Amino acid sequence: MTELERHDYDVVVIGAGGAGLRAAIEARQQGKRVAVVCKSLFGKAHTVMAEGGIAASMGNVNSDDNWQVHFRDTMRGGKFLNNWRMAELHAKEAPDRVWELETYGALFDRTKDGKISQRNFGGHEYPRLAHVGDRTGLELIRSLQQKIVSLQQEDKRETGDYESRLKVFAECTVTELLRDGDRIAGAFGYWRESGRFVLFGAPAVVLATGGIGKSFKVTSNSWEYTGDGHALALRAGASLINMEFVQFHPTGMVWPPSVKGILVTESVRGDGGVLRNSDGKRFMFDYIPDVFKDKYADNEDEADRWYTDQGNNRRPPELLPRDEVARAINSEVKAGRGSPHGGVFLDVSSRLPAEEIIRRLPSMHHQFKELADVDITKEPMEVGPTCHYVMGGVEVEPDTAASSVAGLFACGEVAGGMHGSNRLGGNSLSDLLVFGRRAGTGASEYVDGLGDKKPVIAESDVDAASRRAVAEFDGGEAGAQENPYTVHTQLQQTMNDLVGIIRRGGEVEQALVALEELKQRARNIVVEGHRQFNPGWHLALDLRNMLLVSECVAKAALLRTESRGGHTREDHPAMDADWRKQLLVCVLNAAGDGVDVTSKDQIPLRPDLMGLFEYTELAKYFTPGELADVPAKES
Ligand code: FAD
Repeated sequence: MTELERHDYDVVVIGAGGAGLRAAIEARQQGKRVAVVCKSLFGKAHTVMAEGGIAASMGNVNSDDNWQVHFRDTMRGGKFLNNWRMAELHAKEAPDRVWELETYGALFDRTKDGKISQRNFGGHEYPRLAHVGDRTGLELIRSLQQKIVSLQQEDKRETGDYESRLKVFAECTVTELLRDGDRIAGAFGYWRESGRFVLFGAPAVVLATGGIGKSFKVTSNSWEYTGDGHALALRAGASLINMEFVQFHPTGMVWPPSVKGILVTESVRGDGGVLRNSDGKRFMFDYIPDVFKDKYADNEDEADRWYTDQGNNRRPPELLPRDEVARAINSEVKAGRGSPHGGVFLDVSSRLPAEEIIRRLPSMHHQFKELADVDITKEPMEVGPTCHYVMGGVEVEPDTAASSVAGLFACGEVAGGMHGSNRLGGNSLSDLLVFGRRAGTGASEYVDGLGDKKPVIAESDVDAASRRAVAEFDGGEAGAQENPYTVHTQLQQTMNDLVGIIRRGGEVEQALVALEELKQRARNIVVEGHRQFNPGWHLALDLRNMLLVSECVAKAALLRTESRGGHTREDHPAMDADWRKQLLVCVLNAAGDGVDVTSKDQIPLRPDLMGLFEYTELAKYFTPGELADVPAKES
């Protein structure tokens, strides 16, 4: 029997970003004993890096905004591949989740009349992003943590112990989910500092582990984004959807090389910044796709007037959805009209007074000054696409966040469906709060429904999990031993070059061959030293997840022979209405060492939601058969 630390909870939440913390708060408020486990420091989740804001149709800056407009924008942004029920719940509930954050202590920037201020962002028809300068994620995490502390104080008053009902296990990585038959029974992991093992028994586990960006070379994501939750779900028997859709944010830093990929927030464009090529041309006017022509200005005068008169002018094309802007930048660079370091110019210095730039974009001002010696109040930034967000994730039931495995829930970036083929900026922070809360409720209700039929963890499963966790210390095949850093670097290069922003069938096939080789080589990874804080060992464990998740992305990317949102196939450049009806579903293969991908039909859009769109717009995305019963064909 493995010697290890053991804990029992009703609900274990893996991840302490916005989604995990909101789920934990909810489950605790529903009377459950809750553990929050996170591999980074408490407070250093990815959410803390969010800059621009939270999208919610509060209508504070433009009273025409409402949940229906937000729903429409989200579906358009996702090119109608979104799970419409998730998009509906999200649009309806986001304002309440933002106001609720204020009751936790969040302090947003205000309008002149004292309401929560809302800013413009790509793809959103009205100013909709509640924000705190360009440090919104920090405020979100700070206030969720504050709520957790206040709940712990209540628990102390009642039980004498702060952590009796809600405890955080920081710097603790989960490597496996354990089951009792088909049901979740707990999670197995290790303390990063000591390397000691820890076991959490729990009938319900909520995955809130964020994204997968560290599988790509140029990314805005930090070290913990290694697709752990995606891989844990697959290995536990759950399915992933939409894995071919990876968002490349149009504006990452391109220079100096050490900071390549670091995000330049969309707020720069939302607050008036424009993109120019090496000829000084504002090139986005050349890249407005037909489906958006009626919504975006085709000349500079109208685009500039929009900032002060949104009722009578169309939006600037710099605020097209991210996939469109990223492809446009890619094309300009490829055509030889890029900036000196392989990006394009993003200029806010000629658009706003210096003091206004520093007030609205303090982090960007600081980031460029410190990292690139560029003063953005005086000169343009150089920017280019960077891997930013994965739309794909665990297939969940929208209302409860339940996966197909009993007792396993997922919310936040690790869950799939909400954003379809492309996420709009600001829609992640609201997604975390809406579905974090729903996952907390879903998990609590599931636990209540179990009565005394609680799952039990088999000792043999614990022994097997601990053996697998240290396998890399045993050394691979003599003469073929590998180092985790080399394998990781080659994985990142492969995904960047062959399954990146623009994909071609032949190249994705090459990527799949390369991934198979990397999987073989990963079996021979050897880590040296011992289990006390050993980053090589940590990376070796993370690599298993990155390889599995990369296989999902590449296999789904090869099968989807169309271009839509975050999936661009140069050999299939058009959007295909028949593909909109289909989801690609990834499951673990029978051998347990790879993934199978199959397609399944989307659930048809509910008629009343369909009625929110003009027939002419629907006709751009749906098949004639799907529109046969849609009324108001003449609209
Ligand atoms: P995270 O906040 O990343 O939390 C994941 C948690 O899981 C972490 O605590 C991590 O330690 C833990 N974890 C992972 N694996 C394990 C494991 N194996 N064991 C234990 N713990 C684990 N979105 C917006 O809507 N608006 C914005 O303005 C915005 N700006 C952004 C700026 C940047 C630079 C970036 C990178 C993203 C931005 N996004 C924005 C996207 C948004 O921040 C993320 O999608 C969102 O924060 C994800 O939240 P999450 O709760 O799902 O995961």
